[in-house]
Amino acid sequence: MTDSSQIPLTQLQPQTPDAEAVACSNCAACCCQLEVMLITDTGVPERYISTDDWGGEVMLRLDDGWCAALDRDSMRCSIYQNRPLICREFEMASAECIEERRGMATIYR
Ligand code: SF4
Ligand code: SF4
Repeated sequence: MTDSSQIPLTQLQPQTPDAEAVACSNCAACCCQLEVMLITDTGVPERYISTDDWGGEVMLRLDDGWCAALDRDSMRCSIYQNRPLICREFEMASAECIEERRGMATIYR
């Protein structure tokens, strides 16, 4: 058994979350499975637009749940310049972002 008195104090302290660890570059586009309503015209191509049960325009999502405009090779938005307002306002490392990342991690556990 290891004698904890011999372990450096820094290793005994709980890991503090590193804010820089939350980045789109290390995320599987978790937020691109959310429903995205189109509330302004940003020039989203018609082929990526669907209609919800109430007649509102939303981003089309494919059978696996991801937005149809997501590039599956890079896992980046293929219409970044024309992405909907909601996508523009979704902040990286916000509470919503962290919740989505956590939810995705739970699915694959
Ligand atoms: S905003 Fe957050 S959830 Fe969305 S891709 Fe970036 S890190 Fe992932
Ligand atoms: S439009 Fe782009 S940023 Fe918005 S959900 Fe689709 S892939 Fe993600």
